[in-house]
Amino acid sequence: MDFDFSEHHNLLRQSVRDFARAEVAPHAKKWDEEERFPSEIVPKLADMGLLGIRIPEEFGGSAMDTTSYAICVEEIAKIDGSLALTVASHNGLGTGHILAFGSDAQKQRYLPRAARGEWLAAWALTEPGSGSDSAGLTTTARREGDEWIINGTKMFITQGRVGGFCVVLARTNPAASKQRGITAFVVEHGTAGFSASKHLEKLGCRSSDTAELTFDNVRVHDSQRVGEIDHGFTDTMKILDRGRISIAAMALGLGYGALDMATKYAKDRRQFGKAIAEFQAVQWMLADCKTELDAASLLTYRAAWLCDQGRPYSREASMAKLFASEASTRACNKSLQIHGGYGYTREFSVERHLRDTKLCEIGEGTSEVQRLVIAKHLLAG
Ligand SMILES: Cc1cc2nc3c(=O)[nH]c(=O)nc-3n(C[C@H](O)[C@H](O)[C@H](O)COP(=O)(O)OP(=O)(O)OC[C@H]3O[C@@H](n4cnc5c(N)ncnc54)[C@H](O)[C@@H]3O)c2cc1C
Repeated sequence: MDFDFSEHHNLLRQSVRDFARAEVAPHAKKWDEEERFPSEIVPKLADMGLLGIRIPEEFGGSAMDTTSYAICVEEIAKIDGSLALTVASHNGLGTGHILAFGSDAQKQRYLPRAARGEWLAAWALTEPGSGSDSAGLTTTARREGDEWIINGTKMFITQGRVGGFCVVLARTNPAASKQRGITAFVVEHGTAGFSASKHLEKLGCRSSDTAELTFDNVRVHDSQRVGEIDHGFTDTMKILDRGRISIAAMALGLGYGALDMATKYAKDRRQFGKAIAEFQAVQWMLADCKTELDAASLLTYRAAWLCDQGRPYSREASMAKLFASEASTRACNKSLQIHGGYGYTREFSVERHLRDTKLCEIGEGTSEVQRLVIAKHLLAG
């Protein structure tokens, strides 16, 4: 979208766009068909600085702002929603939680490895029985001397199998009210009792790794606790605020990517002796997509800008995610419609964009939950 980004942001956008076109575009369709996490791309993501986007330079990261984070995710999503989800969740959730609330020792141990791509980060809040009602989680962590013993099951965890570490939210104080007795811990793969038990097959984002995780008497030292005891849920809400900006950016990229394909196709495809782009019905679909996506972009980059200014942005992040995700689903759907029967086949990747973007209405809080957050802010004012 035409927008007054800084020169630095424009250069970043161009370099991530070039990277995605050269290194991701040739493989994205195959990765999706194989439903395989493409671990071969991880070192290249790390070389580009895309696995330590917000990590300070002292820990080997790129030390970029939230606007840059959104730009990176948007540009990758134009080509591949699955990889955009990997970049968004690795940077924003697992790594983001350590960055925001971890101890110095945790930052020293996890952030450089995350930035180098040695360890991808997972972040486990959702459970089989608690999604939107995330504070209803039942995974427990019981203290025994200097250790905690974690038991429970987590559901839909991105990088659940391929991650090197996982930040997990567990109930530490059953007597406290639902939101007050939750604490975060970082657990490394290979820890006894911690396993990724099931790979989940999905509608879209199929080359992103999504797993069910099991914690069976997992023992961690108190030094693996992230943040204050019983403060994990408040911290989690802050992590989700920034995460929602990245899901909005992912939706933007998928929507714009589909619109680019539809615009090109409309000029090439001929029916009734003329390009279908000459039919007003097709023009209106293109115009609606562009208008809604640009509106979504303004909401998304406003939220990122507010965050970068250190100003409140929780409501704006929810508004961006809500509008961008629904606008992207409409844009991908219309773009597929413009492709006619060919759009319904796997020959064109517009169908993959439609499948991938649906996640943006669900992950990191459904559209319904975003509406609740926005209304709560509005009514509190
Ligand atoms: C591909 C994928 C990756 C994910 N990655 C992660 C991850 O890395 N880490 C993680 O912790 N989680 C992850 N999630 C989980 C995701 O955040 C949840 O799926 C989401 O929050 C919704 O929870 P749920 O699936 O349990 O749906 P539910 O909460 O059961 O919701 C079902 C329906 O009821 C509606 N609903 C629920 N409560 C209300 C209400 N109060 N008012 C109105 N409507 C309501 C919902 O909007 C939805 O339409 C991922 C999910 C997917 C699909």
